[in-house]
Amino acid sequence: MAQQYTAADGEILNATAARLGEQIAAREVSSVEVTRAFLDRIAAVDDTIGAYLHVGADAAIAAAERADAAVAAGEAASPLTGVPIALKDVFTTVDAPTTCGSKILEGWVPPYDAAVTEKLRAAGLPILGKTNMDEFAMGSSTENSAYQVTRNPWDTDRIPGGSGGGSAAALASLSAPLAIGTDTGGSIRQPAAVTATVGVKPTYGTVSRYGLVACASSLDQGGPCGRTVLDTALLHEVIAGHDPRDSTSIDAPVGDLVAAAKTGAAGDLSGVRIGVVKELSGEGYQPGVLASFEAAVKELTDRGATVVEVTCPHFTYALGAYYLILPSEVSSNLARFDAMRYGLRVGDDGSHSADEVMALTREAGFGPEVKRRIMIGTYALSAGYYDAYYGQAQKVRTLIARDFAAAFETVDVLVSPVTPTTAFKLGEKVDDPLAMYLFDLCTLPVNLAGVAAMSVPSGLSDGLPVGLQIMAPALADDRLYRVGAAYEAARGPIAP
Ligand code: GLN
Repeated sequence: MAQQYTAADGEILNATAARLGEQIAAREVSSVEVTRAFLDRIAAVDDTIGAYLHVGADAAIAAAERADAAVAAGEAASPLTGVPIALKDVFTTVDAPTTCGSKILEGWVPPYDAAVTEKLRAAGLPILGKTNMDEFAMGSSTENSAYQVTRNPWDTDRIPGGSGGGSAAALASLSAPLAIGTDTGGSIRQPAAVTATVGVKPTYGTVSRYGLVACASSLDQGGPCGRTVLDTALLHEVIAGHDPRDSTSIDAPVGDLVAAAKTGAAGDLSGVRIGVVKELSGEGYQPGVLASFEAAVKELTDRGATVVEVTCPHFTYALGAYYLILPSEVSSNLARFDAMRYGLRVGDDGSHSADEVMALTREAGFGPEVKRRIMIGTYALSAGYYDAYYGQAQKVRTLIARDFAAAFETVDVLVSPVTPTTAFKLGEKVDDPLAMYLFDLCTLPVNLAGVAAMSVPSGLSDGLPVGLQIMAPALADDRLYRVGAAYEAARGPIAP
C-alpha cells in the first residue's frame, strides 16, 4: 500500500529537483511539462493523502511558462528555475488564500507576498499550491488543521508529522519535488523524519519572517524541505538572505550550502568531530529508532568522523520552557485576529457590540489547541505569575543556549534521533496534548537556542521512516549539509 504513494512511474516524478533544474536549463524538458506532471500526480493521489489545502494549477502553469521563456532567453535566475514547489499555507501569497489551517482566516487572500514567496517567484519556481498544517503551526501531527487530515504516504493510517505534515506528505507522495516549511519547535524536521524526506531548520534570523504568519516570533523560522540533501541545499540558498523588513533578520552569510553538500557527497568526514547528545536517547525511545540511530552513528564513524558523547544537561527542561514561551508569544501574536481585520466575522448583525463580535468570532474561528495555548500563555504572562513561569522559562532558554555553546567548543556538529518513535496512528494522541508535546522532545532545544538543524532519513523501522538529527552552531548551516550529504551517500537509498 505504501508503495502506491511513496513511489510512482515516471521519470519526472522520481527525479531529484537538482536533476530537473539541470534538464530544464538544458531544455531537455520544459518547466510546463514538469509542472503538469506534478499537477497530474496531485490530482491522482491527493484525495487520499490530503497534502494540499489549495492547488493553484493555472498560476503554476503560467509561472512555468515564464520560467521556460527565461531559460530560452538565457536568463534563468537560479539552478532551480522551472522546478515547481509546494508552499506551507502560513506564507502569504497574493494569488492564493492563506489560512494557516484555521477557520478564522478562511478565504483570506493577503494583499502582499511573503519574502519567501517573493524569492521563490524571483528564482522562477512555480508554486503548485499551499500545503496543510496544524492550525497556526501548533501541533505535531497536522490533525489540528481545521480543514482536513493529511495522511502519511508510507502508511495512510498514520500521521505525516506536524505542523508541516502537508509539505512533507507532498514530497513523500511525489506530489512535489520541493517544499517550504516552518520550524518553531520541530515542524520541518519532525515531519521530514516520519516521511523519509529531508528538512532543515535554518539558523534563526537567516530566512526572512516577513509575510510568515507568526506563531511564536522568537522561535519561528522558515526553511527548505526536499527529498535529497543537495535538493534541500539548493532551495535553502534560494530562500536565505537578509531582509530589513524582518527586524530579527541577520545580515550575515550562512556559508556555501550547495558546495558543502557536494563536498559531503564525496563521503569523507575525516577531521569532523561529532557529538552524540546523551540526553536525547535512551529510555522512552522506541528500540527501532535507537537501533537506526546507532547504525547512523556507525556510518559516520566509518566515514572518518570522530564521534564522542556530549552532555547537554539542560535539554531535559526544554519541553517545559518551550511550552511556556511559545504559548506566551502565541497569546500576544494571535490577538490580531479580532474579527475586524481578517477573514471570519461572526455575529455582525447589528445586535452585538464590537467586543461580542470579537468574542464570538474567536470562539468560532479558533480550534481547541489554539485556545488552549492562548489561555496558557495569557496565564503565564499575567501579573503575579510572570516571574514564576515566563521569566523562569527564559532563564532555562539561556541555559540551553549555553549547553549548545559548550558542546560546540569541542565538536563541529551534534547528532540525535529526531523523534522518540516512528509515526503514530491518526487519532492516537489527539485527546492527550501532553503525549503530543512529548513527540517534540528532540527538536525543541534547537529552536530555543536559535541554532541550525537537519533531519535526514536514516532508514526504516518496521517499515516506517526514522530520521537522524544533525545540529550545527548558528550561521554554520553548511556543516549540516556536509555531514548530511556524507551520511546520505553512506546510507544509500531507502526502499519501501
Ligand atoms: N509541535 C510543536 C508545537 O506544537 C512545534 C510546532 C512548530 O514547529 N510549528 O508547538
